[in-house]
Amino acid sequence: MDNYINSSIKLDLHSKINLLGLSKSDISRHLYNLGVEKKELSMRVQQLFSWTHSHGKKSFDYMTNLSKEFRDLLSKEFSISRPQIINKQISIDGTRKYLFKSENFGEFETVFIPEDERGTICISSQIGCTLNCSFCHTGTQKLVRNLEPHEIVGQISAVKDDLSDWCGKKNSTLKRAVSNVVVMGMGEPLYNFENVKQGLKIIMDNEGLSISRKKITLSTSGVVPYIHKVSSEIGCLLAISLHGTTDEIRNELVPINRKWNIQELIATLKSYPNLSNTERITFEYVMLRKVNDSLADAKRLVKLIKNIPSKINLIPFNPWPGSNYKTSEPEKVKIFANYVKKAGYSSPVRKPRGVDIMAACGQLKSDSVREKVLKKN
Ligand code: SF4
Repeated sequence: MDNYINSSIKLDLHSKINLLGLSKSDISRHLYNLGVEKKELSMRVQQLFSWTHSHGKKSFDYMTNLSKEFRDLLSKEFSISRPQIINKQISIDGTRKYLFKSENFGEFETVFIPEDERGTICISSQIGCTLNCSFCHTGTQKLVRNLEPHEIVGQISAVKDDLSDWCGKKNSTLKRAVSNVVVMGMGEPLYNFENVKQGLKIIMDNEGLSISRKKITLSTSGVVPYIHKVSSEIGCLLAISLHGTTDEIRNELVPINRKWNIQELIATLKSYPNLSNTERITFEYVMLRKVNDSLADAKRLVKLIKNIPSKINLIPFNPWPGSNYKTSEPEKVKIFANYVKKAGYSSPVRKPRGVDIMAACGQLKSDSVREKVLKKN
């Protein structure tokens, strides 16, 4: 009955439980507490989950296989609301950046990147970030709060609304649907592990959004104690924001390295569960002029990741106002990429996307500040 206690103290519309953040077992528990008979539970859960996450319905009125009486009851207890899109920018290359306002408080960003064969959505896990990576714009914004599971799932639902990308919709003007998810937006996902796990499990569910675990990549700056849990408890693919091959450089670029240094990080990755050539770790490596882009860096990188099935994403630095770094010269990037490739690792150079709207890697930042939270409290 613990969850019923939550619902029994609901006072107004805002305290309705948001269905988007509930797993099927959560929904089942809530329905049981509302009086749904045990023998009906699994069918009701499946119906609700499918209307919400597969058909993208925002109102119980559309759920025509549920009785009017039951729909009325549901609408008193639950909401299906997404974070509100308060700004949308579309790049000349088709990338879309959304600024969301939460129904609670705070603003955060999400990016949709259409490509030839797929459409990738880059979602945020926190508003702001505690980690201050020196090349990252988000790192200049203090942490406001963790995002809730319904806000993690809601980013995808809202973007699918905007793209008319729900099943049954035939009027989509875009050829590419949302097929892949990367958790690489604002925040460190492993500092919000439980909420991110809950959100991603909902996204993967076959009766809902049904995005395969192999099409979801979670990127961490290196929160060592949680890294194995990405495989054992979530099951999606893993990316590591590496960016440096010595502790000296990485301490500056990714300061969490002072807590868990390169040696600890690499040892953890060498024993990562289920590693194989089909489930490789992706190393993210931002190319910064005269900081980490030499041939010596490339050689150290190859040595470090020896025996780890992996791929290295080389990311030309995307400048932002006030940043101290410069983008590596294309020739340097080429030499670096060729060395890594010759050593047997795939080393694509990421094509910057959405630079004109500040939607590229490391450029996200909203105006939400912690002071707003403090005022609210
Ligand atoms: S790179 Fe990721 S972890 Fe580092 S400051 Fe930016 S958002 Fe935070």
